[in-house]
Amino acid sequence: MYSYYNNDTILYLDGEYLKATAATTDLFGQSLHYGYAVFEGIRAYKTANGEVKVFKAKEHFDRLKRSCELIHIPYNFDNDELIAACYKVLEMNNMEEAYIRPLVFCPPNMTLKAASKSNILICAWEWGAYLGEKLLRIMTSSFERPNPKAFQIESKSAGLYVNSILASQEAKQKGYDEALLLDMNGNVAEGPGANIFFEKDGKIFTPPPGNILPGITRATVIELCHELQIPLEEKLFTIDELKQADAAFFCGTAAEVVGLESIDGQTFAKPWASSLGKVLQQAYKAKVLEKTFQREAQLA
Ligand code: PMP
Repeated sequence: MYSYYNNDTILYLDGEYLKATAATTDLFGQSLHYGYAVFEGIRAYKTANGEVKVFKAKEHFDRLKRSCELIHIPYNFDNDELIAACYKVLEMNNMEEAYIRPLVFCPPNMTLKAASKSNILICAWEWGAYLGEKLLRIMTSSFERPNPKAFQIESKSAGLYVNSILASQEAKQKGYDEALLLDMNGNVAEGPGANIFFEKDGKIFTPPPGNILPGITRATVIELCHELQIPLEEKLFTIDELKQADAAFFCGTAAEVVGLESIDGQTFAKPWASSLGKVLQQAYKAKVLEKTFQREAQLA
């Protein structure tokens, strides 16, 4: 089992820095019982000039706040203070490259009323490539993403992740690396913890916001497409259209940009090494490390 902390690990809880082994929570908490909590996943990188930088910290904390607002969890925190707390947690744990997990959770309340108070935890651990380095063999999940009419789908809420766990587990049980979930209309939505893109005839496609988590990595990949003058279109598409793609990839904070080998056993036409996804993967890595990236140099 992966150990997320040890006897020396320090975390941030409601304004204080505590040993992880000394921090406690209430077993009667509304979040624990009903999944009524909100979280983020952020990465810190040691950049080219040797500084530790939390990538897109503001965007992640803005999303944390919005996620809470969408499901009526009070958010009485100052995001600049929380960003400073991320750096302090990294420093106190002697971490440079790490995954940072803010979690907003609610005190005891066994009714179904919205919370009137919330707590915040920020912890961090060292995490390599979440979905591995190699190309992924994915399968179309028998689980759909939750219908946006049944949930605030753009809120990164803890309870929503039972759907992700079910889909991921099913895929692994069937011998695949990861799942791909459709939306309630049968269009491709996203992976259990990552957004999807595909390449066809020199152009990149990804589903529009609406039935997906609007990923921060997704936004970065879109920015990179603009910077690198790679044509991009946000549109709904079916699994059959995806199977006809030249290449495809997942992206997310934990997964970064990771190429797909096959879907439901059907491989993509183009070798990953010569795909636009590979260019975007390298450009993403350069961006988080604050290195300059020249597409021509990469393709040469
Ligand atoms: N979709 C889902 C369901 C996710 O859990 C994640 C990971 N947060 C993503 C997409 C990618 O989001 P981001 O790039 O902001 O990490």
